Amino acid sequence: KELTADTDTSNTRRQVFGACYSFVTPRVPSNPQLLHVTTEVADLIGLSKDDLTSKEFLEVVSGSKILPETQPFAMAYAGHQFGNWAGQLGDGRAINLFEVINNKKRWALQLKGAGETPYSRNADGLAVLRSSIREHLCSEAMFHLGVPTTRSLSLVTTGDKVLRDILYNGNPAYEDGAVVCRVAPSFIRFGNFELLAARKDLPNLKALADYTIHHFYPQIKETGKEKYLAFYQEVVNRTVDMIVEWQRVGFVHGVMNTDNMSILGLTIDYGPYGWLEDYNPDWTPNTTDAEGKRYRFRNQPDIALWNLIQLGNALYPLIEDIPAMETILNSYSHHFDAKFPLMMQEKLGLTSVYDSDFQDELTTLLTAYETDMTIFYRNLANVLKSDSPEIALSKIEYAFYQSDAIVTTIKTSWFNWMEAYLKKLNEDSISDTDRKVRMNKVNPKYVLRNYMAQLAIDAAEKEDYTLINEFHELLKHPYDEQPQNEKWFAKRPDWARNKVGCSM
Ligand code: AMP
Ligand code: MG
Ligand code: MG
Repeated sequence: KELTADTDTSNTRRQVFGACYSFVTPRVPSNPQLLHVTTEVADLIGLSKDDLTSKEFLEVVSGSKILPETQPFAMAYAGHQFGNWAGQLGDGRAINLFEVINNKKRWALQLKGAGETPYSRNADGLAVLRSSIREHLCSEAMFHLGVPTTRSLSLVTTGDKVLRDILYNGNPAYEDGAVVCRVAPSFIRFGNFELLAARKDLPNLKALADYTIHHFYPQIKETGKEKYLAFYQEVVNRTVDMIVEWQRVGFVHGVMNTDNMSILGLTIDYGPYGWLEDYNPDWTPNTTDAEGKRYRFRNQPDIALWNLIQLGNALYPLIEDIPAMETILNSYSHHFDAKFPLMMQEKLGLTSVYDSDFQDELTTLLTAYETDMTIFYRNLANVLKSDSPEIALSKIEYAFYQSDAIVTTIKTSWFNWMEAYLKKLNEDSISDTDRKVRMNKVNPKYVLRNYMAQLAIDAAEKEDYTLINEFHELLKHPYDEQPQNEKWFAKRPDWARNKVGCSM
């Protein structure tokens, strides 16, 4: 069954009923310039190097030109924001251009920042350069880290100014506008289902579920309510997998509202995200969440479950079987409790049984002293079975943010843990060399540290785009040693302490 479309193409902000999406017209930018293209993403959709330098490519990814026989649209969705029902949200500044099938895979192209849609509410439908750089770099960095994510094909400046509420001298600030072209099999979110369920639009709710299953979960062969149960279970499984990966690399999403949860278990909506630098489970990069810290690092697994409950409520009319749905929800914790400890063991290079006291002790230590998460795990791989605790500790001390004098005290606290770690290593049959190879595959050397994104933004605002290119290349190989790039395997500089992401 076809999804129902809203055919008013006026882009006027409104409540849209009885439709899954609205046809819209992207805004034509005054002077589009291509800042960066991801050639691997272009490959995915079957574009050659030559295509990327064509005038038409820039026209399409900037919103200047609509390809023949395509009809851009914005999706209708709702959501729970910070735990509260928010009603209709929708693609307020995202416009789906078309889908491409290449090598039997389906890819949707979506412009972010190409102007208003029926769902723009009181905002402008635009994106600024800084947030677009963050999305472009981070989605690709996440992909290469092995985290399920939407991709970013291109980064374009529009030549138009965008008004944002950063005040300089009491005056409103105009910033450079930009458009990112995102690519994913689909951008459907939990919120798309929630909107239709809240409006009791059962035909469209069913059509959307059938559409999603048909295209993206074709392995589901069940019929009737069993079909939707299998679908729900798959979404639960994929969400667990995504969250375990976030926790592995130290990614904090920052706005895990249900409208930002992909039905395919992809990381979506790179807004105020951030990376744990010093290991602080209570950290959130989102300044608007500073008080409740709902979306802090350590809450992410619980919030994902909370969001899945909201999805369950939305799917309920298609299933109407509470015990069966509860079984699926309970499987979230079972899957998580199986996968998370395994991942934590892999980060430590251990093949022995998970020892929760030992892990808790590690978390306590990492939290007690400002310790850089990425550097700690990466350097831990250098520890040898034959090391004394002192020698082993000297190999991770670079991860401590404190001064040398204090580090001596810190090392005293770490001594027992390190002694126990060495004991575990010696009980394991794996060699030092093999363990290091394995650990280096799960503990990245390079992540998009918050200050790195900021450096790329500061330079780009002065029309210097070299860092965008440099970071894009660096983060394509986050697990490799890159001696020429050793300077990015470094603690956050002092000026960047407490710097957070930006979302607008
Ligand atoms: P977010 O917090 O980024 O997930 O956005 C929440 C909602 O606000 C979504 O419906 C977005 O489409 C919408 N939104 C965010 N920024 C803008 C903007 N600049 N213009 C229009 N809508 C926006
Ligand atoms: Mg969003
Ligand atoms: Mg956003």
